[in-house]
Amino acid sequence: YRIFFVGLNWKMNGDKKSLGDLITTLNKANLHEETDVVCGVPAVYLDFVRSNLRARIGVAAQNCYKVAKGAFTGEISPAMIKDCDVEWVILGHSERRHVFGESDELIGQKVAHAQESDLGGIACIGEKLEEREAGTTEEVVYAQTQAIADNVKDWRNVVLAYEPVWAIGTGKTASPEQAQEMHEKLREWIRANVSEAVGDHIRIIYGGSVTGANCKELASEHDVDGFLVGGASLKPEFVDIINALV
Ligand code: 13P
Repeated sequence: YRIFFVGLNWKMNGDKKSLGDLITTLNKANLHEETDVVCGVPAVYLDFVRSNLRARIGVAAQNCYKVAKGAFTGEISPAMIKDCDVEWVILGHSERRHVFGESDELIGQKVAHAQESDLGGIACIGEKLEEREAGTTEEVVYAQTQAIADNVKDWRNVVLAYEPVWAIGTGKTASPEQAQEMHEKLREWIRANVSEAVGDHIRIIYGGSVTGANCKELASEHDVDGFLVGGASLKPEFVDIINALV
């Protein structure tokens, strides 16, 4: 049994006023009890959001560096994130990989350090359109997953987010069958390469153009254990997405 997990990835959006409005909505909303909810917040607003959001909802940074402190201008560490009472970090998001050039190796090092710091990790993987068209989807996502798995000690602190790059911000959601197929394969890969127990228990969430309209169908798939939501996380429909199982 896996508790449904919905991450709201606000990306680089919002200000105190608009995020304050989202917080008000989240604090009042009737959320399905058996669903974990975590907001991915721009670094400068972590403290503000954690201080104002009800405790039942988690907060995640959207990135962090691989060491605790030092001369790394512009970076933030897991220790700093934890110091703001924030429990999670998103790592390996496709925008980090493809806009900012983060490698599997660097993402692995970040995962290792986040783990040492006892920070929960939402680790993201996913193939690009040309990779899917070339038939290399499995190769790509298994390599990305391997680089993460090599650095995980405590799998209870990890959620895996499958986000095909061609579905992110495009309105081209993976079909429920496409999502289920990849999630099932990923779970099998983890059962074979990590352990059967980890494979059975890890939450594998889907991201890429999830909306209030398509979330129920996706959520009904056996191996889809939740969502990582971008664009729709800024609109009132995010409440419907959190409650996709209801
Ligand atoms: P969209 O929901 O805007 O496609 O973004 C998905 C995503 O990247 C979540 O991390």
